[in-house]
Amino acid sequence: MSTLRIAVPNKGRLEDPAAELLLHSGMRFEKTTRSLSVPVANVDVELLFVRTEDIPELVADGVAGIGITGLDLLEEAGLAVEVVAELGFGHCRLAAAVPVSSPVQDLAGFAGLRIATSHSRVTERFFADKGIPVTTVPLRGSVEVAPRLDVADAIVDLVSSGSTLRVNGLRPVVTLLESQAVLVQRIGLEGAEAELAGQVATMVRSVLAARRKRYVLMNAPADAVDAIAAIIPGFEAPTVVPLAEDGMVAVHSVVEADEVWNVLPRLRTAGASAILVLPIEQVIP
Ligand code: AMP
Repeated sequence: MSTLRIAVPNKGRLEDPAAELLLHSGMRFEKTTRSLSVPVANVDVELLFVRTEDIPELVADGVAGIGITGLDLLEEAGLAVEVVAELGFGHCRLAAAVPVSSPVQDLAGFAGLRIATSHSRVTERFFADKGIPVTTVPLRGSVEVAPRLDVADAIVDLVSSGSTLRVNGLRPVVTLLESQAVLVQRIGLEGAEAELAGQVATMVRSVLAARRKRYVLMNAPADAVDAIAAIIPGFEAPTVVPLAEDGMVAVHSVVEADEVWNVLPRLRTAGASAILVLPIEQVIP
């Protein structure tokens, strides 16, 4: 048996980005549609491909040491597991919405309403905390059609773009929770399993950090280096390497991906040429 089992979504929205993140973290495995359990070739890890919503339970029970799931599903499960990293995909919010024709405009307006949701626990806790009495109507799917069928007066459901709400004639009023995919770990993990889980978390974080950065290389006259360094401070200082051509250097640095757009024209003005922008696979500070 492997030292560590990782529970990974086997279908749905989080399936592809979760598998991709583990591959980018350096794990070698072949996912098949048939098998639940897949060994990782180069690390003492076994991947358990299971339903996203079962993952909080499987980690809390110790079937897997760590897992990838949605924060909303974790909150809904109400189980004690540790969130070790936010993974930057599967972004959505859990919102309370009403039909566009409803007079409800704010939180207080939900008092006395029937709310259809597949997140009953989070919904009940949210409204109870605010002192607003509501009745939940637990549904597993198609929550957005409940008001039209007069099963409920309002809904609480996951929203990303808001287009599903619009198509169903619904209007969001309040946000209960901001969610994204998270890496979770069983509380009380020990020994070799805990050590390996820590290594996985480090590798995953290094991939996430790298996605937000770019490696930038350029040629420049040696006397432009100070001006260039002021534009791209990099992690510490940029690397400056002499070129065969007298008085010319190559400057290497790391830039926030969102900043590249801003930085490039300023580098050219400062005298840089032959500028290359490269992706980075992992950043381990
Ligand atoms: P699945 O139902 O297996 O496709 O995955 C559901 C999980 O994906 C949810 O629990 C959320 O964590 C996440 N998610 C991200 N965006 C959305 C969205 N617009 N609707 C539903 N789930 C979303």
